[in-house]
Amino acid sequence: MKFLSFADQGQPRLGVLTDGDRVIDLTALLRSNPEHGLAQVPVNVNELIGLGDDAVPRIQACLENAQLADQVWPLLSEIDVLPPLQMTKNVFCVGRNYREHIIEGNLARGRPANTFPEAIEFFSKPPTAVIGHGANVRRYANLTDSLDYEVELAIVIGRRGTNISREDALQYVFGYTIVNDITARNLQQLHGQWLKGKSLDTTCPMGPVVVHCAAVENANNLDVSLTVNGELRQADNTSSMIFSIETIIEQLSAGLTLEPGDVIATGTPKGVGFAMTPPRCLNIGDVVSATVQHIGTLTNTIAA
Ligand code: MG
Repeated sequence: MKFLSFADQGQPRLGVLTDGDRVIDLTALLRSNPEHGLAQVPVNVNELIGLGDDAVPRIQACLENAQLADQVWPLLSEIDVLPPLQMTKNVFCVGRNYREHIIEGNLARGRPANTFPEAIEFFSKPPTAVIGHGANVRRYANLTDSLDYEVELAIVIGRRGTNISREDALQYVFGYTIVNDITARNLQQLHGQWLKGKSLDTTCPMGPVVVHCAAVENANNLDVSLTVNGELRQADNTSSMIFSIETIIEQLSAGLTLEPGDVIATGTPKGVGFAMTPPRCLNIGDVVSATVQHIGTLTNTIAA
């Protein structure tokens, strides 16, 4: 199942996206079907995750019993989509993780091509950077001349855990979403550490949905792609990641507690704008669409 958070007349709602791109108002459906057995009716994805492991099967049963055929639900394009998760802390991110992206970055910076990180490079993006599907990314003409895109598969944590082994790692995953790790390349370089260049407001588009882990057979084998104004810029598969999902969770959770609703972006493949010759940066009006197989497409427009 694909879950999303949206607003209906200003009120938060939990939705389920159908194969036909329609959004079932799960909050309304559960309120009108009190036999669902949930401890509370969730109004967003965070509350759904907080209900624990048996919430999704209960919702599945409720959907199967409901008279959905009589309802005409709105299309995804017709609703007020929110970021799928309300972040109370930073989005965890993995730097250079795809082999060919590391090579293109090395070449663009005049380094030897085949030097790869031995440990995972972690950084983060603050909650103030997070926006949802359809929202605008600000251009920041006064701060950067090199705004760039990065499509990424992102892990959504479902259970609290510390020192999680790679063997147990997937038991801590609620599902997966898409992050576009928008980056101001000049600030990333200027400040040494990546935080500032990766953290401007609106530079963490996320969503549109969180797909439940039961719908993803192997997240280490998903096609990942990105277009700018319809032109394909990035295309790879998560099987090209140096550090797998299990390894990322094991290394990040070592001595660092992961909590329900935490998000970990797993790195981006080759094809970023700064590594092109000449570099191609994002400009006002550009429409950026980030796609991950079995999850969907996250689209945002660059605005003044
Ligand atoms: Mg990135």
